[in-house]
Parts: sequence; structure tokens; C-alpha cells
Amino acid sequence: TVRTRFAPSPTGYLHVGGARTALFSYLYARKHGGQFVLRIEDTDLERSTAESVNAILEGMTWLGLDYDEGPFYQTQRFDRYNAVIEELLDKGLAYRCDCPKERLEKLRVDQMARKVKPRYDGCCRHRQVDPNQPHVIRFKNPADGVVVVDDLIRGRVPFSNDELDDLIIRRSDGAPTYNLSVVVDDADMQITHVIRGDDHLTNTPRQINILHALGFEPPRYAHVPMILGDDGARLSKRHGAVGVMAYRDMGYLPEALLNYLIRLGWSHGDQELFSIEQMIELFDIADVNKAASSFNTAKLDWLNQQYLQHAEPSRIARLLSPHMGKLNIDPSEGPELADVVTAQAARAKTLVELAEISAFCYQDFDSFDENSAKKHLRLVAREPLTRLRASFEMMAHEDWTPEGLKHVVERVGEELELNLGKVAQPLRVAIVGRAASPGIEETLMLVGKEATLRRIDKALA
Ligand code: GLU
Repeated sequence: TVRTRFAPSPTGYLHVGGARTALFSYLYARKHGGQFVLRIEDTDLERSTAESVNAILEGMTWLGLDYDEGPFYQTQRFDRYNAVIEELLDKGLAYRCDCPKERLEKLRVDQMARKVKPRYDGCCRHRQVDPNQPHVIRFKNPADGVVVVDDLIRGRVPFSNDELDDLIIRRSDGAPTYNLSVVVDDADMQITHVIRGDDHLTNTPRQINILHALGFEPPRYAHVPMILGDDGARLSKRHGAVGVMAYRDMGYLPEALLNYLIRLGWSHGDQELFSIEQMIELFDIADVNKAASSFNTAKLDWLNQQYLQHAEPSRIARLLSPHMGKLNIDPSEGPELADVVTAQAARAKTLVELAEISAFCYQDFDSFDENSAKKHLRLVAREPLTRLRASFEMMAHEDWTPEGLKHVVERVGEELELNLGKVAQPLRVAIVGRAASPGIEETLMLVGKEATLRRIDKALA
């Protein structure tokens, strides 16, 4: 059965690139009825933090990328890695090296001067090194031959062994290194498909060599091309590419972000919207683009708007509530938030925007949108607003219905021989603060009688 894993290093947020790798691994496992494993690669003790671990777990949960096994932590598996390192030593497939820093540095400088790629020269392969003195352990990489990475995205990528040096598998402080622990874990966790960023492609021939030395069958590999910012440089914080939880805080829906992520480097005809079920059904790792893809916020906004519009209003109301809270609005005091969502969702790209344009339903505003006021309020509005106010004031609360309100607005238009826009737009600016809102009856329903009168008074003052 197919087993994939996501293996982040907890040295920062779960960022967009990582989330996409996780999504691809998740989809591939689900599509094939397999398992998806989460492994936290926390062996770098200086850079790994508990906050990062939490941010990763929180991000996975928010995106709904549920894993079948894990999280496993590499720091809890040092004994296992050390046992494997001992095994390699015993079999003569690894060796101790105590080459002083100065020697390695000189070697590097000489090689650079001769324009050859710096690599360890294998000096300690044939020396007896005192195990009680400080030393590292190196893997005996095959001296010749070619390792072919048969990549599911890139195709066959050959590496010549004489370009790979004897890499360190245990540091002098006793810590196993990344390439060793990954190999042991992928083998022990019976990973069949390693899907990861293509910054790891050059590690893969080394990992394959170690797997072979240990008698393990290497998994299949798929190296996913990187994500670029809109300026063509690798996506980084500079582009505002922060952790996925920041996207939640900016008001994006998890399903919109997932849909966005799958479309970064993968497509299915010209279809843009994919439910998670469709993603599972249609995704294939072999269809991922070889070329890097560029982050495009406008596209993400578009997708988010699609999902905002079509999601269940009560769910959106739940998600919107904290964003209203940030504007100091308590949505329990005023119209049903779900009704506000129904009226407004088509007008907003994010939950943050939805909260901003819906604030008028709950609180008075301090100033009018300058352009809207100039256009609709200052010139011709006194008369219609005065008449509307008088009619509204006389309405009983049970008459405050969409039909009743429509009737009042139309009647005032008729009396003054003004078209509907000349009545409704000033009214809209008066009670919303700007010229955009849902239909005028709907807007009046959301604002309610009391606030409508108060705001008209303010507009006329
Ligand atoms: N821990 C590595 C990283 O975060 C990923 C290793 C892998 O997927 O093999 O870059």
C-alpha cells in the first residue's frame, strides 16, 4: 500500500511551500487508499522550537490535512539512528574521521583553487581513529558508478558517485545528521513515496546509497518545484509569504487556500475550483509541473471569494465572528450574522473585508466615504432623505419588512419625480457610509429602524 509522509523541520511556521508539499503527500495517500504520516524532523536542537511544532500541527489541523500516523519526533529516535550507525561501522560501510578543521579547510581551498568541486578526500577511510577522541562518522559512499534518481516529476536524474563525498552521518557531538535520520525513518516507516521540495534533490542520491548499504529498497521520489514570488525570486517572507495561520488571520478559508495550493503547479484542464474530494480523485503526482510556479495573490483572492459566496452562511458567520470582534463589534447585538453573510458575501474577498463592509449593520460610522458623499449626498439629497425619514419614522416595527420598505422608497421617488437611484443612493450612503451595499431593502432590514433614523439625521445635520 502507498505510504507517504510530510517531514517538516520545526524551525519556523508551516509556510505555503510546506503546506503544498503536505497537501500533495496527503492527496497521493488518500487517492491510493494508503496512509499519510507526519514526522517532525527536530534533530537540529538549536533551531527547532516547540512553538514551531505547534504552528505546524495547528496549520495541518486548520487545513484539514489529517494524518494516519504520527506526529513522530526524530529526537525520540536517536537510539535507533545510533544503532544503525553502529551497524554501518561494524559492516565497514562507515568510518570514524578525526580530520582537524584546519585540514578540511585547506583541502577545500586547494580544491577551489584547482576549480574542482570541494569534497572530502576520504583520508580517514584507511586510518585507525581513536573512538574515545572527538570524531565524526562518515558514510563510505561508493567511489564510482552512477545513482539514478527516477523522479516521478523530473524523470531520470543521474548523479555520478565521484561527485558525492563521504558524508557525515554523525556529528562530533553525537547527533545523527539529516540524511541518515531521514533514511532510517523512511525505511522504518515503510514510506513508499517521498514527496518533497526539490531543494532536496541533491540529497536523494546520497540517501539512496545509504538505503542500499543498509539493504533497504529506496522509495519512489517526487521532487516538487519551488514556488516563486511575483518578482521571480524564491518565495520568502519578503513577499509576505508567511505561515498558513497568517492566511487564516487575513481572512482566507482553508478550502480556498488548499484549492489555491493544488493549482500551484498542477492543473486539470481549465477547471479552477476543486473540492477536496475532487482533488483526491483527480490529483496525480505525475501531472505536477516541472517548472516552478509563481504565487499570485489575486488568484487566491478570487478563489476565496468563490468559496465565501458558496459556503454555508452559518459556517461563514462562525468564522467571521472573531473578525467582527477585532473591530470591537459584538455580532450578538444586532442582526443575525448569517443574514449579514448572505447579503454581503458576494462583495468581499476575505473575511476581514467582509467584516469591514458589514460593520455598518452593528455600529454607526464616524465619516462618510468621501467619493460616495460627494456624488450622492451633498448635492441633491436633502429632500428625498427628509421625506424618507418622515415615512420611516411613522412605520410600525411590524411594517419594517422588505416589502414595506420597498414601497416607501418607491413612493418617495414617485412623489419627487426622481428615479429610484436618486433616492436609494443617498439613503444608502446615509446609512452605510458608502455607496456600495446589498439591495436597499435588505440594507434597511439589517440596519433597523432606530439606527436608520439616527444616521439619516446625522447625514442631514
Ligand atoms: N525536514 C526536511 C525539510 O523540512 C524535509 C525532509 C524530507 O522531506 O525528506 O526541509
